[in-house]
Amino acid sequence: MNFPKQNVIKKYNLPKEVKFCKLCTMSNQRPRIIFDDKGICSACHYSVFKRKKIDWDKREKELIELCDKHRKKNDYDCIVPCSGGKDGSFVAHQLKYKYGMNPLTVTWSPLKPTEIGRINLENFVNSGFDNILGKPNGKINRQLTHLATKFLGDPFQPFIYGQTNFPMQIAVKYGIKLIFYGENGEVEYGGDMKNAFSPTREIMDHDKHYFSGLGPYYWMKHGIPEQDIKPYCSPSYKDIKENETEIHFFGYYKLWDPQENFYYSVENTGFKPNSERSEGTYSKYASLDDMIDGFHYYFSYIKFGIGRTTSDTAHEIRDNKITRDEGISLIEKYDGEFPKKYHQGFLEFSDISDEEFHEIVDSWRSDHLWLQTSNGWKLRNPISSN
Ligand SMILES: [Zn+2]
Repeated sequence: MNFPKQNVIKKYNLPKEVKFCKLCTMSNQRPRIIFDDKGICSACHYSVFKRKKIDWDKREKELIELCDKHRKKNDYDCIVPCSGGKDGSFVAHQLKYKYGMNPLTVTWSPLKPTEIGRINLENFVNSGFDNILGKPNGKINRQLTHLATKFLGDPFQPFIYGQTNFPMQIAVKYGIKLIFYGENGEVEYGGDMKNAFSPTREIMDHDKHYFSGLGPYYWMKHGIPEQDIKPYCSPSYKDIKENETEIHFFGYYKLWDPQENFYYSVENTGFKPNSERSEGTYSKYASLDDMIDGFHYYFSYIKFGIGRTTSDTAHEIRDNKITRDEGISLIEKYDGEFPKKYHQGFLEFSDISDEEFHEIVDSWRSDHLWLQTSNGWKLRNPISSN
């Protein structure tokens, strides 16, 4: 199979000229991010706003009112999607043990679970939570990973379908109206700001924000039977409405700080960081549970010039954990590092040859970002401290 050059600019509506935010390390190539005329990104604006302007006591009162509205005596009153990672664990633990809710936690299985991820999920459940684990048909999961890698340049897409839709299925099946996610990624990390001042997420935005415009049913035209696609899909809009399903972001009610969530989950839910840093970045405690997600970050580096270190440093700068110069040094050191540890396993899992993999990768290198040199591919405009 030939992999024709992708028009990345058009597909993701990217600016042709690369610019970096003056305050963090994010570039204007992140889809849907907005830069102001002073060169500051929307995520940095929101970060200043949330630390200086939001009345968090008032927001906590809103949270308690919401909980009171949904509280049930002898039944689950909310759903918390949680993989056993630091963020969902923080949300579930706060809701249950600080705000007296009775959450049902819901996990969509990683594509290829890691040992540390399994241990953390086990520790989380053992720290006092009921959990439903959704594990889809392994054959279909691999086929979808194959197709998503070939046609979307994102092996992680099947996981994202389930992660987004499975909690809604459980909400409808169990008649639970309230779903609690952690942060609104669009607002916290740069993207669509329309929900910056709202605690809820519109279900109709899912295709646009999380599925690159292509929902699970798209793959039927590549031969995946409808019944096998079902587990990845949301319930019907009618069922969601009839259940009066509401999706809320915990980050609207409580200041969201991933590093603080990490300390909290170590303390309260038995979370363990990895013994070594994740490939492509310097951190040891975020996105640990799937062998495939390194490839999701790697494709982001290829498509947008934004690797895992760029994403990690950008929010750690906003959270005042590191300086911008420290962030830039880390990017120079780790961003775009090839995820070699799980490469062979990924190829076998997705039934893609090494040669095909590299052809797919190169088909997503946009000329406005990449230059082919005698030493291999180089970013035309890497971030620099001046
Ligand atoms: Zn910024």
